[in-house]
Order: sequence, then C-alpha cells, then structure tokens
Amino acid sequence: MTEGTEEKPVVYLHDIRRQYQQGETTLTILDGAQLALWAGQSVALVAPSGSGKSTLLHIAGLLEHPDEGEVFVNGNPTSALSDAQRTQIRRTDIGFVYQSHRLLPEFTALENVMMPQMIRGLKRSEASRRARELLGYLGLDARVTHRPAELSGGEQQRVAIARAVANAPRVLFADEPTGNLDPHTADHVFQALMQLVRATQVSMLIATHNMELAARMDRRVSLENGQVVELE
Ligand code: ADP
Ligand code: MG
Repeated sequence: MTEGTEEKPVVYLHDIRRQYQQGETTLTILDGAQLALWAGQSVALVAPSGSGKSTLLHIAGLLEHPDEGEVFVNGNPTSALSDAQRTQIRRTDIGFVYQSHRLLPEFTALENVMMPQMIRGLKRSEASRRARELLGYLGLDARVTHRPAELSGGEQQRVAIARAVANAPRVLFADEPTGNLDPHTADHVFQALMQLVRATQVSMLIATHNMELAARMDRRVSLENGQVVELE
C-alpha cells in the first residue's frame, strides 16, 4: 500500500460538487466529495440506488464534468484540459466496466479487446497478441472467436474487463459489474477483477451492492449527503 508515502494517488477527487436540475428543483448529488485512489488498491463503493455512485464514477473517469472541484489524475488537474486531452487520458490511463457489457455485437471477443489498442495506435498484430494474452489470463482461450451473443453473461463481463484493461490503465472503474449475474458467476467475475489488481497494480473502484464482495476488497467507502465516507 502506498498511502503515507510521497507517492501521489492515481486519482484524487477534490471537493467535487455535482447538481442536476429536475424541473424547478435542484438535486445536489455530490457536495464536497473527496476520494483518493492508490495504485494497487481495490475500493468498494457501497451506497443505495440514487445516491450518486454512477455520477461519482463518471466524474472520476473524466466522462462527466463536476460543477465544482477538481479531478487529479496522476497528480495533474484535469478540469482545464481540452476534450481531446481528456479523451487521451481516458484511452491510456482509465478503464471502465459497466453493468451491461457494452461489447460491440458484430465483432468477436478478440476484436472487441483489440479495438481500444488499435484506436490508440497499436499495430494489428500487437493488439491481437495482447488481446489473446488477456483473454487467456481471464480463462477465455476457447472463446476468442465468439461474438458477444455466443457468450454467457459471465464470459461477456470478462471480455468487457479484458477490453477495459487492454491499454494497461492506471485505474479501473466498474459500475455494478456483477449486478446482472447470478452469485456464482458474480464471484467468478469478481475474482477476475481482483486477480488483475494484484497482477498489474491497477487501482480499482467498484460500485456494488454486494456486501460479500465488498468485504473482500482493500477498502470500503459509501456516499452520505453527497460526501464520500469510509466504512468499516
Ligand atoms: P446511483 O448510481 O448511486 O444509483 P446516480 O449517480 O445514477 O446514482 O444518480 C444519482 C441521482 O442523480 C439520482 O437521483 C438520479 O435520478 C439523478 N441523476 C443522475 N443523472 C441525472 C441527469 N442526467 N439528470 C437529472 N438527474 C440525474
Ligand atoms: Mg448507478
């Protein structure tokens, strides 16, 4: 664990405020939220539906802007960056896994994992080699030529995880990644995520309702009145 050393957090959310306009009323979802994510640390975000988990992940993942506050990635502020610069950081440093796999249906598992690497400029042969390696690591050797519809729910999520880490991000955000899976499959997918944290020192923040899985992570946080609180 790197806490307490000179090293900077991979992602640091500073005083994040986010409001949504709902007709006449203003909903304050995040209200001074602070969170530091450290390399190699897995953090569970456990909070009720509607409390702002997805909003927090989207802001931390540079998919959305906060109304106030700053998101630091590798110690660098991101709010003043151009969209192109933010996209570049998302491509290289940030991985995202959603509750539904969001794989491209007309492409194979292999091609889905190659895609982000080729967008980043890797040669086809290199992207293919790394995609095979990652899918193999996640126990999907025999599924590389399958399309998403030909995979089980757990397999689809493992391909989505492989795609999210294809460019070796520093941080992985997962928004209820096992929410659609049965308990056994959820456990399998969860193990795949934890295995990646240990093997790559990626930092991981997972929004989940599954207390049993959360208990197996390094740290647990929740959202209360728009702020991040530590759980034990
Ligand atoms: P969670 O992921 O914890 O279920 P969300 O971050 O999705 O929570 O949403 C938090 C609150 O913000 C909810 O009450 C939701 O209705 C509201 N909200 C989210 N996105 C928008 C939006 N684009 N416009 C208006 N309200 C939104
Ligand atoms: Mg959500």
